[in-house]
Amino acid sequence: SGSPAETSTNPTIDTIAPENEPRRANATLLMLARNSELETAAQSVRELEEKFNFKFHYPWIFLNEVEFTEEFKGNMTELASGPVQFGLIPEDHWYQPDWIDEERATQGRNKLVEADIIYGGSVSYRNMCRFNSGFFYRHPLLRDYKWYWRVEPDVHFYCYVDSDPFLYMEDNNKTYGFTISLYEFEATIPTLWQTVKDFTRDYPHFVAENNSMGFISENGGDTYNLCHFWSNFEIADMDFWRGEAYSKFFNYLDQTGGFYYERWGDAPVHSIAASLFLPKERIHFFQEIGYFHNPFTHCPLDWNLWHNKGCTCSSWMSFDNQMYSCKRQWEGIF
Ligand code: GDP
Ligand code: MN
Repeated sequence: SGSPAETSTNPTIDTIAPENEPRRANATLLMLARNSELETAAQSVRELEEKFNFKFHYPWIFLNEVEFTEEFKGNMTELASGPVQFGLIPEDHWYQPDWIDEERATQGRNKLVEADIIYGGSVSYRNMCRFNSGFFYRHPLLRDYKWYWRVEPDVHFYCYVDSDPFLYMEDNNKTYGFTISLYEFEATIPTLWQTVKDFTRDYPHFVAENNSMGFISENGGDTYNLCHFWSNFEIADMDFWRGEAYSKFFNYLDQTGGFYYERWGDAPVHSIAASLFLPKERIHFFQEIGYFHNPFTHCPLDWNLWHNKGCTCSSWMSFDNQMYSCKRQWEGIF
């Protein structure tokens, strides 16, 4: 191919692309964050750069519903080894819509506060969950990307990621990748499963033949077993969220107001959709990526893998075999 100047309008990408890497995915690292999370965001970026991206130089995109401070932008730009962009979230992608009955929303929040459910009284947490469920992949900065790796402030990466997980996904026909699965608090989603059942009754053709119903239900779909992929880590294909099945699904859920009247998380919403609308082979468990998000760790259980990837986590700390892990359900469907 020609010189960098001829092949790209962005010379930065060409000059830093590793010479021995024949192919890159159309992918970005993605972090939603608040300005107040400057230090923990920096920690996550520093670690993922050290364990993975210093070799790959994928771009970073940071999103926020208010403008990032110059300090935040300066710090992230310094730590990133790839191009960096900062995006403002459009108001109608974030804030509680006008058609939500505020009285009912207040009652719903009070109920969860009384039940002592984490973030039970928080409106901003609900905004975040709804945004992560149905809007991030429509942001103008993300529109031209297919793959993303969701990264949160204050997480840890324990192993070297020396082969490109995006290309792994692409080459193996995967759509959704996770590291940790667990049970949701039922009080946050009392009517979610009924809404899902209504949707699949109305749109049965979206349900994949070889789906992962066994992961999310112990009785063929009658009730939800609360299992979900922990969405603070995701490596996934945004075209799935942008597609007809998920778009209709998200709108169907959204119009019930459940994101505000209850406290529906993006984790169960993404997980149920991936489990029902994708053949199970398209969901991938990243065994080799050691990861921590408070309070759980995933650490490779296989010693050779642990050793070869230079992991610094303890396998005995891995959540996988603990009681609240849904790994049993996941493995049970294969
Ligand atoms: P948890 O993981 O469920 O405890 O929730 P977090 O507080 O970690 O929030 C999940 C993600 O959303 C993180 O990336 C946060 O930085 C981000 N986030 C949460 N609330 C807000 C908010 O009000 N504004 C912005 N910009 N980001 C938020
Ligand atoms: Mn978090």
